[in-house]
Amino acid sequence: MVLAAPPELVIFDCDGVLIDSEILYCKIDAEEFTRAGYPITAAEFARKFVGISFDTTLKIAAEELGRPLPDEVTHRVHARVKEVIPAELKAVQGVAALLDRIGLPVCVASNTETERLRWNLDIAGLLHRFDPHVYSAKMVARGKPAPDLFWHAARQFGVDPGRCLVIEDSTVGVGAAIAAGMPVLGFVAGRHCWPELGDQLRAAGAFDVADSCEAVDEILARAAISAA
Ligand SMILES: [Mg+2]
Repeated sequence: MVLAAPPELVIFDCDGVLIDSEILYCKIDAEEFTRAGYPITAAEFARKFVGISFDTTLKIAAEELGRPLPDEVTHRVHARVKEVIPAELKAVQGVAALLDRIGLPVCVASNTETERLRWNLDIAGLLHRFDPHVYSAKMVARGKPAPDLFWHAARQFGVDPGRCLVIEDSTVGVGAAIAAGMPVLGFVAGRHCWPELGDQLRAAGAFDVADSCEAVDEILARAAISAA
């Protein structure tokens, strides 16, 4: 599904798109999973689990290990997140300026639960840019890769799915946008991104891939020209 005209609503994923959080989360998760007997590097963790909820990640690891990881893993991860995120979390480079320039209604749609989603956005200095249009998978029956959350976001603005633009950094999120009938742009400017991710996002259905916020501008400008 291509972007044939300027969108009426831009729906941003949060982690890895608005905020450069995945690199921090993957490092913490990989270290704690390794400590619990599931050896994995931060880079491997990113490739395998980015876009997947923490609960599902625990389930996959338990299936592979043949036993559940100790509850302590979740507690240790939470404790380290509370320490590291306020100290180190930043917006993805160029996001604030992109929001200044974009000139379109915007919202956030994330699998992260509501309170942590808002906490993360606030720390990165972005909450006020979106509030109250911050939508969590907890607000709908099914999170991504189901289409529910994107439909929920579009409904709040009264915009047809086909007139939205979703910006996503994971194949799970791209799949959710495709299922929702929305054009989706892959975004690979987060520091956690690996070289083949752009191709993987295209294969999942992204009509194009941007490797910076400036590239998003160019893609939006092209849509405006082709519609004129
Ligand atoms: Mg993401």
